[in-house]
Amino acid sequence: MKISVVKTTTPRVKPDQNNLGFGRFFTDHMFIMDYAEDLGWHDARIIPYGPFPMDPACAVMHYGQAVFEGMKAYRSPEGKILLFRPEQNMARLNRSNQRMSIPQFDEDFALQAITQLVALDRDWIPEAPGTALYLRPFVFATDSVLGVRASSTYRFMVILSPVGPYYQEGLNPVSIWVEPHYIRAVRGGTGYAKAAGNYAGSLLAQKNAQAKGYSQVLWLDGLERKYVEEVGAMNVFFNIGGVLITPDLGDSILPGITRDSVLTLLRSWDIPTEERDLEVAEIFRAHAEGRLVEAFGCGTAAVISPIGRLGWKDQAIEIGGGKIGAISQRLYDTVTGIQTGRLEDPFGWVLELDN
Ligand SMILES: *Cc1c(COP(=O)(O)O)cnc(C)c1O
Repeated sequence: MKISVVKTTTPRVKPDQNNLGFGRFFTDHMFIMDYAEDLGWHDARIIPYGPFPMDPACAVMHYGQAVFEGMKAYRSPEGKILLFRPEQNMARLNRSNQRMSIPQFDEDFALQAITQLVALDRDWIPEAPGTALYLRPFVFATDSVLGVRASSTYRFMVILSPVGPYYQEGLNPVSIWVEPHYIRAVRGGTGYAKAAGNYAGSLLAQKNAQAKGYSQVLWLDGLERKYVEEVGAMNVFFNIGGVLITPDLGDSILPGITRDSVLTLLRSWDIPTEERDLEVAEIFRAHAEGRLVEAFGCGTAAVISPIGRLGWKDQAIEIGGGKIGAISQRLYDTVTGIQTGRLEDPFGWVLELDN
């Protein structure tokens, strides 16, 4: 399939690199392709960024058939454009599609479209430390028919946003509330998919935690409300007595690419890791015994987000003296170093754009 290109005639003014925030600004162009049962994915195009008309009956607005991805492009010190494990994002997007009854797309083609779009808007990749170009591929149902069933038409889009560090305060540890009632996902549900509705369903708990003075929630399993699953929209690790423990992947946990990279790095450093069920009670017990060393969330947006305080029922504990832990810092430096081309890439994670 060929990608047609219409370039903007009215380029936008680029934002101040030191005040980007997250997801507030968008580049000059976007990628679109459409799906119809008789045509498959077709009409691949890069066009000027902007709004498009939607029918009020558009299926995505009623039954929420929508999935997305989040990835980043960086500029290396030599000026090269680098993507971090993008083929993993494409594979996961197709797994999300499968769960939400959205048709599969050609992953190589989509990645090629993404690199072409990034290359076209390359001047939007910020260079200040901690900044990147955030890539947001997403797919949604477009039938204009009411009735609960899988849509017969879809749209795949990619938009790009220059972003600053996820947390304005930098790598400062955040406080986390263990959510006792609401759950993010349950076995047999859609938790392993980056499905839009998962995030809508998480907002109320997030709002309640913020009202209590916490910045994010720690999600527990849906059956017993006993085992740790994720923190906000990140995977989570606890360093207990020098062992880095993260919940093992079931279908209620989003398989993070950062999580996988963190596990790979830890193993290469001979730091013991465990993927297993982890009870909140075990974390609080470890803290009482002085064995809880550090904790952090991990994901593309923040990379590593240290946890400095954990509130559960009527208890609250401080982790690592409220400071970032040594392994958290080493992971952050290494992952961002590889992503930005400042460190060697021993695992072949980085895709260099050749234009
Ligand atoms: C995207 C996401 C993550 C992190 O995945 P990465 O591939 O590391 O960015 C973790 N948990 C949830 C719920 C997510 O949506």
